[in-house]
Amino acid sequence: MRNPPTLPLKGGGWGRGRNLRSAIGMMRDYKEEARDLIEGRVLFDAPMKRYTSIKVGGPAECLLFPKDVKELRKVIRHAGRKRIPVFILGKGTNLIVRDRGIHGWVVSLTQGMKKVKMDGEVLEAEAGCPLQQLVQFSVQKGLAGLEPFFGIPGTVGGGLAMNAGAWGTELKDVIHSVTLMKEDGEIVKRPQSRLRFTYRNLVLPPSWIILKGRFRLKEGRREEILERVKSFSEMRKRTQPLDYPSAGSVFKNPEEGQAGKWIDETGLKGFRMGQAMVSDRHANFIINLGKATAEEVLRLMEWVERRVYEEKGISLEREVRVVGEA
Ligand SMILES: Cc1cc2nc3c(=O)[nH]c(=O)nc-3n(C[C@H](O)[C@H](O)[C@H](O)COP(=O)(O)OP(=O)(O)OC[C@H]3O[C@@H](n4cnc5c(N)ncnc54)[C@H](O)[C@@H]3O)c2cc1C
Repeated sequence: MRNPPTLPLKGGGWGRGRNLRSAIGMMRDYKEEARDLIEGRVLFDAPMKRYTSIKVGGPAECLLFPKDVKELRKVIRHAGRKRIPVFILGKGTNLIVRDRGIHGWVVSLTQGMKKVKMDGEVLEAEAGCPLQQLVQFSVQKGLAGLEPFFGIPGTVGGGLAMNAGAWGTELKDVIHSVTLMKEDGEIVKRPQSRLRFTYRNLVLPPSWIILKGRFRLKEGRREEILERVKSFSEMRKRTQPLDYPSAGSVFKNPEEGQAGKWIDETGLKGFRMGQAMVSDRHANFIINLGKATAEEVLRLMEWVERRVYEEKGISLEREVRVVGEA
């Protein structure tokens, strides 16, 4: 097989001096190359607004759905050899993808890697499994500990990468161990004692991928577990603007208290930039009224940061991750 061309790295363009025809040729080769690599689905110029909960974002040049760990390893090794940038996508519920989209390969584990199994009081879930499904499975099996996470719309991989949390509990509190793939495709397992979780983050070397998590739970009465799930779910419905697309809480809670409280006190509830609006139900949510662009969301985020700093002297730190070409 012919050696495919190297994908241009970040910064855009196909390199100075190349004419349009060769650029188009390179693009075609690179696309065919991605399709040849795996049996799982491969999409080109996939609009990221379809793959993010806030529904903004330009196209991913190439979106790959490896069907298992073997295919993922192929993708990672190939991308490494060719120096193709890789971004791992969960369910896109904590992401703002810029309007110019993402260069390189976006890899989703949500179609092939989502099995869950039980091992005594430990549940093991692959990274692409929705967190919601994991909680439901724990209820069925009469295992307590995951109830607060019901309603967080991401995957197990995204949840661990973000150290997702709700109602005073974080995934770090129930994690037993995590299986990871290094940038060269090697697979390693890390027990909880060797993982460093911080507020909304799991500290990992760049390019490492979470393959699965094992969660240490406790046997309990199914009805009681279900009751707790329901009450957390009710609280969520009462406090969050779930009828509009969003990326959840935009800012981390600063030491001084809840980010939403400071944004509210700055008078920003309902403030709009185009079709992006600070929710009037929960001030730490930015909602998409229908046709918002990533630029509108980002401008609104900057405005909130500036106003809260000017009025309250508080620097808000972003919880959402912003990716894509600037
Ligand atoms: C309505 C709503 C409510 C929410 N409520 C909460 C809440 O209560 N608590 C909370 O913490 N969050 C909440 N969120 C935010 C979000 O759901 C969580 O952060 C979630 O864990 C993100 O998971 P994801 O699969 O969508 O990850 P993505 O948004 O796709 O990705 C987030 C980050 O994780 C990385 N990542 C994803 N998968 C992997 C992997 N396998 N290996 C390595 N890195 C990976 C990505 O590269 C990215 O950097 C909410 C969001 C919404 C829209």
